[in-house]
Amino acid sequence: MPKWNEARVVKIVEETASTKRFFLEPLDGGAVDFVPGQFITLDLPIHEVRQKRWRSYSIANAPSDDGLLELCIVKLEGGLGTTYLFESIADDSIIKYKAPAGVFTLKKPIERDLVLICTGTGVAPFRSMIHDIYNQNIPHQKIHLIFGTRTKADILYLDEFADLAAKQDSFSYTVSLSREEELPNDDSDVNWLRGYVHQAYEDAYKELREDVQFLICGWQNMVDEAEANLKGMGYADRQVKVELYG
Ligand SMILES: Cc1cc2nc3c(=O)[nH]c(=O)nc-3n(C[C@H](O)[C@H](O)[C@H](O)COP(=O)(O)OP(=O)(O)OC[C@H]3O[C@@H](n4cnc5c(N)ncnc54)[C@H](O)[C@@H]3O)c2cc1C
Repeated sequence: MPKWNEARVVKIVEETASTKRFFLEPLDGGAVDFVPGQFITLDLPIHEVRQKRWRSYSIANAPSDDGLLELCIVKLEGGLGTTYLFESIADDSIIKYKAPAGVFTLKKPIERDLVLICTGTGVAPFRSMIHDIYNQNIPHQKIHLIFGTRTKADILYLDEFADLAAKQDSFSYTVSLSREEELPNDDSDVNWLRGYVHQAYEDAYKELREDVQFLICGWQNMVDEAEANLKGMGYADRQVKVELYG
């Protein structure tokens, strides 16, 4: 039987109109061990049947000394779990969760360039991986985060990744906006594009390379399409790893 623990919600940050960051403090003493890219499963009081109460969320922060777990969650209209999280969870709420799990993690040593493709809250596991690499000085090649969303107001962690792109030569950051007429005209290190996320990697990686590893995270339509596109471009199965949210 999986071990269930309790955590206290210590902070909630409204990241965009539809997305919140939840900071959980495990109550069972000490930090929770996890590998960046893993998720935790919450048991929410939304159904009588146990399995129908479970919702998984990627851990969005890197392992850190404060031991908090950050989740980045988008509200789904009519979604049972997210309606509960957005409307009934507040500071000091107690949430039941199952220990971190999942195999959407980086293979060490990191020998190939990493291309991290996501839309919306699919960025969560990548944020954990990226911060861990720089926090721990883990040897790596280039890291390219490609984030897709509708408008500038929907971008998650924009300032943070823009700062990182300015500071770290090995990190580059592309933001693809599908419903924005005009792209920001700024002097940031963000590579702004108009359109869907797919165009971004199709253009940047059209010349087949052995030394690149793609990771894709998000909802089914985007993940399936990106995986099929990359394989259609000639990339090998082992070069494309995916995490499906639903
Ligand atoms: C390993 C894993 C990690 C996950 N990590 C995150 C995370 O970090 N952040 C996060 O926000 N979600 C994440 N999810 C999704 C999450 O588990 C829930 O499915 C989501 O929050 C919706 O739950 P709900 O109860 O509100 O909706 P439900 O009532 O369960 O939703 C009903 C249906 O809508 C579909 N659906 C839900 N959301 C969307 C969407 N945005 N677009 C299209 N279809 C959708 C579901 O697949 C389901 O079929 C993750 C899922 C998995 C499996």
